[in-house]
This record gives sequence, structure tokens and C-alpha cells, in this order.
Amino acid sequence: MLYNIWVDEIKKALDKLGGRASLEDIYNTMERNSGINLSKYTDWRSQVRKNIYLHSSDTDIFKYTTGGKMDLFHSIDGKGKGIWALRFFERDTLDDDSQEAIAKKRNPSWKRDELILALNLYFSHNPSKINNKHVEVVKLSKILNSLPIHGDQANPDNFRNPNGVYMKMCNFLRFDPNYKGKGLERGSKLEKEVWDEFYKEKNKLHNIAQSIILGITYEKEQVSQTINRDEEEEFPEGKILYRLHRQRERNSSVVKKKKRLAMEKNNLKCEICTFDFFKKYGELGYGFIECHHAKPISDYKEDTKTKLEDLVLVCSNCHRMLHRKRPWLSKEQLRQLIKQ
Ligand SMILES: [Zn+2]
Ligand SMILES: [Zn+2]
Repeated sequence: MLYNIWVDEIKKALDKLGGRASLEDIYNTMERNSGINLSKYTDWRSQVRKNIYLHSSDTDIFKYTTGGKMDLFHSIDGKGKGIWALRFFERDTLDDDSQEAIAKKRNPSWKRDELILALNLYFSHNPSKINNKHVEVVKLSKILNSLPIHGDQANPDNFRNPNGVYMKMCNFLRFDPNYKGKGLERGSKLEKEVWDEFYKEKNKLHNIAQSIILGITYEKEQVSQTINRDEEEEFPEGKILYRLHRQRERNSSVVKKKKRLAMEKNNLKCEICTFDFFKKYGELGYGFIECHHAKPISDYKEDTKTKLEDLVLVCSNCHRMLHRKRPWLSKEQLRQLIKQ
């Protein structure tokens, strides 16, 4: 046996966790399922730590050859952060099935909706003052697990667990001018985008976060269906609110009424640029128009009823343009813009 039993178990745990994980997750995974009788040890967690350190050239106590067979673990973001990866987690040498299995174990990257919720919590509970056991962190972890946006890509072992949520909150520290420490260095581009968009607009962020939670609570079915993958990726308020917005624009009887009234007046055209689908496309375009709901989706309340005057008939181009800017352009503003 090349390695001791501890090292084998740590490797197994990291493997299960997709190749990288926090100490916390490694402990939890080993606790659930391990070849070692952990209860025999008064402090088995320190055994785990010690064996990671002994087998990582990122530590001072490492005695073997750097990059050699005994250099097994690699510290992400520095030793103090407690996040470890298997140094040789070689995807390329694996067959397709194993690669797929690993891809499944790696959790999907955080989407806008999730970052919005995490940043919102960041502003009410600064991560430098709480820890991963905090009740709000645990609560957010549950909410993220109920968001219908990742399908079966999530690894049930550790998807958005409290520790992952807490670490994501810590990722925002590096942007915060009020934070004196260094913060985690690595992070996604989207984190920066979401931070830049909202750090001066905490109230707006809070409303959006509330609306997302209301949306998944009261309209679970509607927000579970992808309508347009590309568009929802771009929507600044995230997938959930995009779906909610589009649902409102599609199904409600008020939308049908709006169209019917326009057709009766023979006036089914874009209220902004006057594009007329029937004139342009003949039979094919007959009766076609899109409908934009002009009320910002971040004002979503569970019992908001759509009113006729909230709706604007638009062509597909104008509709996309309306969605592009925050706050949304009004019908008049976009009209003005086209004239120039
Ligand atoms: Zn138009
Ligand atoms: Zn719209």
C-alpha cells in the first residue's frame, strides 16, 4: 500500500466531491461513509488535516518531492482557507463514462439568481461577522436547493450546502471597500458583474431577491420551465424573474384581451416602431404580436393582477430592446430613441 488508510479515505472523499472541496465537506463526506471507524479516534478531524498537510507541497511540513507521487493535495486560495483539491484529478486520462460521472459531481456554476440571493444576504449579514452555521446561511442553502434552474446537474452530496453558500458570500469580500482583509482571490466574472450592478442599490437588490423567493413559492410551476435559454441567461434579474415576466406576458387573459381589442380596431402593430407582422409577412404574420409587461418584475408581489394599462404591444425587436436596459425604457423613451 503506497498511501495510508487516511490518505485513501481523503482521496475517496475528494473524488466524491468532484475533485475539490472544503475541509468541512471532506469531514462530512467521511463521516457519512468511510472505511475507518472514526468513533475510535478522539480527534479524527485533525488526522485528516495532518494527512492532507503531509501530502501537499503547499505546506511547510511536506517532505517528499514536489510534483511527485506523494504530492497529492493542492490548496486552493492558500492553506488557511481550508479548501483542498486533488492535485492529479486527471480528467483527460478517464474514459467518457467516468468523465461524465465527474462532470455530474462538480456542481454547476452559480447563476445570477443565486448570486443575487447571496449578495442580498451579504448586505444584511456580513460574512466576516457570521459563519457557515448561521441560521440565515442555512436558510439560503435550502432556498438555493429549491431553485428550479439547475435540473439534475446538481451533486446531491454537496450542492449549495451551507458551507458553499458561506464561501460564496466570502467571495464578495474582495470587492467590498469597507472590508480591510483580503478576501478570497478567486471568483467568477459574474460575481463582479452582480456586485457592480447592485452594491449601490441595496434596496433594489432586496426587492429582486424577495420577488425571486415569492416567485418560487407561489408560482413554482410557471418558473420551472425554460422559455428561452439565451434570453434568460441575459436577464439581469435572473432566470426565475425572467420566466415569471414572460409568463405574465404570454398567458394571462388580460394579454389576450389587449390583443383582441387591437385587432378589432385593425391596429395590431408595434406601439413603438409601428411594425406590423401581417403587412410584412402576410398570412404567416396574421394576429401575431408580442406583449410587454411594463411593470418592473422586481415589484412582483404574490397577488399582483395584470392590468390592461401595464401592457404594451411590441414587435420582437423592440421587445428585446426594452428588456436590455435597467431601469426598463418606457414606450415613449424607446420611441424617442428610434426617432433620433
Ligand atoms: Zn417595434
Ligand atoms: Zn417584456
